[in-house]
Amino acid sequence: MKKDIRKAIIAGNWKMNKTPSETSVLINEIAPLVKDAGCEVITCVPYVDLSAAVEATKGTNIKVGAENCHWAESGAFTGEISAAMLKEVGVEYVVLGHSERRQYFGETDETVNKRTKAVLKAGLKPIVCVGELLWERECNITEEVIARQIKLDLWDVTAEELKNVVIAYEPVWAIGTGKTATAEQAEDVCAFIRAQLGKLYGEEAAAGVTIQYGGSMNDKNADELLQKENVDGGLIGGASLVAEKFAAIVKAATVN
Ligand code: PEP
Repeated sequence: MKKDIRKAIIAGNWKMNKTPSETSVLINEIAPLVKDAGCEVITCVPYVDLSAAVEATKGTNIKVGAENCHWAESGAFTGEISAAMLKEVGVEYVVLGHSERRQYFGETDETVNKRTKAVLKAGLKPIVCVGELLWERECNITEEVIARQIKLDLWDVTAEELKNVVIAYEPVWAIGTGKTATAEQAEDVCAFIRAQLGKLYGEEAAAGVTIQYGGSMNDKNADELLQKENVDGGLIGGASLVAEKFAAIVKAATVN
């Protein structure tokens, strides 16, 4: 039923892995395995790998995403990349506010919001990551944290723009740790995110937003997670670097 109204999306987040030549090799391995996918398939790769990814995905059903983007259109921001640059290379999606950016590179809800607006303005689709720390879950403030992130990260984003926004719920304690949220925990927070979107944009708009789960999702646990009503896909780190595992997750999204 949920698949009738929203798109299931499986996106790989390669993080700082693979050179351009290795990118072509991995995409060539993944492409035949996901060619019949009943969901959207995205590979989000490091900036220098984007051209190789765009080239390797030509004629396939795989779309290409970046892992970050600056908010300014151009200017004195040494080392940064703008949304227009990504667009011209052939990128369609951009991961924003990943917990590793928040943890290691000083990303805040304010900068995530600025990046989200810039990406939307350029006609690209942001995958906005939200999620609580282990300490925050233990203190029972998961919902407060998520509500704040949703409100601030999407500040000033219009209902029309929301149609191009994907939300990834990524509990920080589950990323790269091998500790997955239970399917019930993932569903509870994804449903809560949808309810928050409902408060901000109305229930109909909220019902159309794709909400992914991310955090040690793999070929073994994907099926159970993706069966949940409000889990519309996955943002996959480690398992996206192994073609067979990534393809198995895509298959789980196709049948659920
Ligand atoms: C991620 O990088 O967004 C992620 C969820 O990583 P992993 O699947 O390795 O936990």
